[in-house]
Amino acid sequence: MSLDGTYDDGNIFAKILRGEAPCAKVFEDGEVFAFMDVFPQAKGHTLVIPKHSTGRNLLEVEPQALTPLILGVQRVTRAVRAALNPDGIMVSQFNGATAGQTVFHLHFHIIPRWEGVALGRHGGGMADPAELKTLAEQIAAKIS
Ligand code: AMP
Repeated sequence: MSLDGTYDDGNIFAKILRGEAPCAKVFEDGEVFAFMDVFPQAKGHTLVIPKHSTGRNLLEVEPQALTPLILGVQRVTRAVRAALNPDGIMVSQFNGATAGQTVFHLHFHIIPRWEGVALGRHGGGMADPAELKTLAEQIAAKIS
């Protein structure tokens, strides 16, 4: 999908937001929702999405959704650090299929990194749901 297009409310993240698809939820407030990536590139790979935006990407997101979204990303990133003690944390966001985007509801990736541990493939293997639930609980416990 190119950078141009229309928001499809049948996308998987819209379904998760409506409770129509399962997820390992980490956090939500009035504006943002955070959950574990099911094809994690590292242990603790977490996604943060806006709840009320129909922006498919950063270029389209309504300006008023941006501040709460990035504050949510910072809050969850701090919780990931507190829970998992990584050596570094990658925060990323893709715009358009050519850039690697596969789900067209704006989202930020929070990917913890450890010295000597290679980054997993984007869209690699599926995680064990029980493990994701445990990680989500560990991160959620550190949200402040
Ligand atoms: P992107 O490729 O940047 O659009 O990121 C989409 C991310 O969503 C990928 O890292 C996928 O692993 C992840 N993903 C796809 N389906 C689900 C799902 N049902 N629950 C959680 N994460 C998902």
